[in-house]
Amino acid sequence: ALGTAACGGSEREGTTGSGGDAAAKGFPANSLIGVALPSKTSENWVLAGDLFTNGLKEAGFQADVQYAGASSTVADQQAQISSMTTKGAKVIVIGATDAAQLSTQVEAAQAAGAKIIAYDRLITNTAAVDYYIAYDNFKVGQLQGQALLDGMKAKKATGPWTIELFAGSSDDNNSKVFFDGAMDVLKKEIDAGNVVVGSGQTDIKQANTEGWKAENAQRRMDSLLTSTYTGNKAPDGVLSPNDTLARAIIQSVKSAGKPIPVVTGQDSEVESVKSIVAGEQYSTINKDTRKLVADTITMVKALQAGNEPAVNDKESYNNGTKVVPAQLLPPLIVTKANVVEAYANDPKLAPLTKG
Ligand code: BGC
Repeated sequence: ALGTAACGGSEREGTTGSGGDAAAKGFPANSLIGVALPSKTSENWVLAGDLFTNGLKEAGFQADVQYAGASSTVADQQAQISSMTTKGAKVIVIGATDAAQLSTQVEAAQAAGAKIIAYDRLITNTAAVDYYIAYDNFKVGQLQGQALLDGMKAKKATGPWTIELFAGSSDDNNSKVFFDGAMDVLKKEIDAGNVVVGSGQTDIKQANTEGWKAENAQRRMDSLLTSTYTGNKAPDGVLSPNDTLARAIIQSVKSAGKPIPVVTGQDSEVESVKSIVAGEQYSTINKDTRKLVADTITMVKALQAGNEPAVNDKESYNNGTKVVPAQLLPPLIVTKANVVEAYANDPKLAPLTKG
């Protein structure tokens, strides 16, 4: 039927609204694509917004890219998704502010004909999530846990090593995944007595950093230092889930006049890459945002053409209601040892690694 279409061989199907069978699957090439991102809690989100705006336009789509504000984040994002639905968005890409608070909005969007792609953070407790695309977040946690152990061993050959644990915001579904990944590596060392959590605060609820806010991490580190690390005592390592919190933890330790412990991170933020080169922060994770956004736009293009986007994991991401087909990218651990090669193809970060 396609070859005989009256609109001509090279014209794209679906633009005439004729209700043809093939046309029913994809959508017009210049359709509106919505992108709802959380508040700008780390540099990766700032970058993602710019890349989506430019990349979607280059691909011929109309783009509506929105961020949740700094405070009423959940309500902002709910309203933004509803507005994208009303405007007729064909795909809505969502970096959720609160994984569990979007079911009403994504269900309405899907009912109106939009596909929903969860970006970086899974959306939970609803069947209205078509795809998930992210760096493998459990792997991120495992890499952080391993880096923490490696860094401490390099400084002090034999244990026991004393550590503290920090986790991300409790409303972000990723926080638990990062923490579980790290504990997958650390728990056996803790159980064996090789690693000791000085404060005894091993529960994620004690470790959470609400809103991913630097000041919350700094305040908790200040109080851990006062309560647990009196006199000459100091932790050997701190598990930090991202770079913003890592720098806050390092700031706290410096203010207390203690030696800087091995501190992990994530996101390859400019100030943390500098800190790694300077020998302060121990590690970060490279989750190249350029690649994640480009691959998301590839998914959108597949949907536009009426095809099923490629996914490489159909079993791991159960969101409480369904197993969401996922496209997972590999994260890379970065320490001073590989910082130069890790960012060699990144024009923003490469100059920072040259000493
Ligand atoms: C992202 C991290 C980021 C954090 C805070 C998480 O969901 O995966 O890369 O550090 O949000 O913005």
